[in-house]
Amino acid sequence: MVKTRFAPSPTGYLHIGGARTALFSWAFARKQGGKFVLRIEDTDLERSTQQSVQAILDGMAWLGLDYDEGPYYQMQRLDRYQEIAEQLLTQGLAYQCYASKEELDTLREQQRLAGLKPRYDGRWRDSRQTPPAGVKPVVRLKTPQEGYVVFDDLVKGKISVANHELDDLVLLRSDGTPTYNFGVVLDDLDMGITHVIRGDDHVNNTPRQINILKALGASIPQYAHVPMILGADGERLSKRHGAVSVMHYRDQGYLPEALINYLARLGWSHGDEEIFSREQLIEWFDLTAISRSPAKFNPEKLTWLNQHYLKTADDTRLVELVMPFLLERSYHLPAAENLLKIVNLLKDRVGTIEELADASAYFFRTIEPPEALRTQYFTAEIRPVLEYLVDRLAQIEWQRETIHREIKQTVSSHNLKFPSLAMPLRVMVTGETQTPAIDAVLELLGKEETLHRLRGRMEIFPG
Ligand code: GLU
Repeated sequence: MVKTRFAPSPTGYLHIGGARTALFSWAFARKQGGKFVLRIEDTDLERSTQQSVQAILDGMAWLGLDYDEGPYYQMQRLDRYQEIAEQLLTQGLAYQCYASKEELDTLREQQRLAGLKPRYDGRWRDSRQTPPAGVKPVVRLKTPQEGYVVFDDLVKGKISVANHELDDLVLLRSDGTPTYNFGVVLDDLDMGITHVIRGDDHVNNTPRQINILKALGASIPQYAHVPMILGADGERLSKRHGAVSVMHYRDQGYLPEALINYLARLGWSHGDEEIFSREQLIEWFDLTAISRSPAKFNPEKLTWLNQHYLKTADDTRLVELVMPFLLERSYHLPAAENLLKIVNLLKDRVGTIEELADASAYFFRTIEPPEALRTQYFTAEIRPVLEYLVDRLAQIEWQRETIHREIKQTVSSHNLKFPSLAMPLRVMVTGETQTPAIDAVLELLGKEETLHRLRGRMEIFPG
């Protein structure tokens, strides 16, 4: 059975790159009817925080990336790493190294001056020296000195590295914690991981991990190293490129299905399909369709997708999502039913829930039109026409159709074109020029509020 995992280090928020790796691992497991494991790699004690663990769990939950096992925590498995390090020592496949940091620094400096690649020289590999007193050793793997490590990466193809390029890597630090490579290997092994899908910043670690697996006599999983994500400038995606935290997108009012759809297209494709559901993604997902070249992060495309999902989202859900934004703006909220209509009226005009809240502002409070709009629309000629309209509106039963009819009637009886009245009317009531159809806006705003706003604004006209 296929088993994949996502193995983040809790040293920050869940970022776009991590979420994309998680998504690919998840989608592959789901497609294959396998299992997906979440493992928190928290052995870097200085940089790991509980807050980051929570941010990762929240991000996964929000994206709907459910896992069948875990979260496992490496720090709860220390005994296991120590046990296996001990076993490798006994078998003579690993050894204790007492070289101090200063010694290793000197070695590296000498190698650098000699124009050599810095690497551990194996000074404790077959040493018969008496270990220095009071020094806690690290455990190093006896990396084979001959031959090659060869593996078939499911994305990158065949990769071959000569063992003499690899030094005797540390498995266990002197404080008893495993190094990244040792922890990952034992975890993947113990958890029965069949496919290791991860960022290609780890591709250089893979030959080392395979050597550890070989020392353990274990079978080797399949590897798929996913290309990096770049910013628009071609540099590796980072904070410099703006928001890279998944939760930031939630907080701005992106829908998780939009982000999932977007992340899936970052380095993977299925024909020309741009918009697809989670179910379609699972149905189509295939590691062989992962691109070999880096993907570019494009925030505009993400917003475009979000726009699509907002348009088709259920209004009740959108009301729930927009509510915190409205409350944050201290808007006095109308009846729930009106809120539903407002959301319905505006949802195909915005890119995010935050924009939805902003676009609906005029329903909740009066907005002073900016000076430029006042000069353009509030002319002495149009004032009597608007007064005429106000009188008529005051008498009707308040419905979109009747409102529309009154505007039309007013326009034709004054020999005007529809926009020459509709625009000043719109600016008076909403403070802006871009709104949905004015009759729909007025209907929702209500008769009392509309008349109140129109009457209150008459004095801003010249003359
Ligand atoms: N903890 C590693 C990281 O966050 C995971 C690498 C792996 O998947 O093996 O980069």
